[in-house]
Amino acid sequence: MTEKFIHLIAAVLLVAVCIQSRPRDVAGAGIPGSVFTSKATQQRVVALTFDDGPSLYTRPVLQILRIHRVHATFFVIGRQVARDPAAVRAVVAAGDEIGNHTYTHTDLEFLNEAADAAELTRTDAAVEAASGTIPLWFRPPYGAIDGRIARLAASVGLQPITWSVDPADWSLPGTSLIVSRVLLQVRPGGVILLHDGGGNRSETLAALPSIVEILQARGYHFLTLSELFGAVPMPVPPR
Ligand code: ZN
Repeated sequence: MTEKFIHLIAAVLLVAVCIQSRPRDVAGAGIPGSVFTSKATQQRVVALTFDDGPSLYTRPVLQILRIHRVHATFFVIGRQVARDPAAVRAVVAAGDEIGNHTYTHTDLEFLNEAADAAELTRTDAAVEAASGTIPLWFRPPYGAIDGRIARLAASVGLQPITWSVDPADWSLPGTSLIVSRVLLQVRPGGVILLHDGGGNRSETLAALPSIVEILQARGYHFLTLSELFGAVPMPVPPR
């Protein structure tokens, strides 16, 4: 066999391995080790995502989403799920999506492989026990992710995703600044990072109706992450 032929065989085998270990049911998911930030599209679709819950702000966020008839994805912390499983059930029952945000909200880059894996699988187990669903998406705390962690997430069936729109709502910059930062940064296919836990989220709650109403007026549709990456957007019903 020529060296070229051996390289070809190796490449085919590598592709076969990659296809086999794709995260479950996430259409559009790429090679294990990939980290999504946004969806490449010209369509005016975006995903709202809320990190660090569940907390006392989760249900008020759900109420606002229902009033505006939009859906979002909640990246939950496993140990908080264990304390308030009903909040996770409420998210799922409302048709919103749950993502995995580790068990203790730790920076996975500083842990070993076994501890990292436990952070992910314990959270999946807590979400499943609370709601009967298992997350498809993983968001690393602090956005801290490297190839090793991304491949580990893929190996347990989670597609890593960060974000493309970050108004830094957690820093309490003021409601109007949260709204204006989102509007300035948003693009078709954007993934908007907000927080429903981790501290005082009253500014996020106050900003949310304006964010949704202004983007809807600009023709944007709001999708869960699985809808954004895996399905054709549904038309928004007339208001
Ligand atoms: Zn977080």
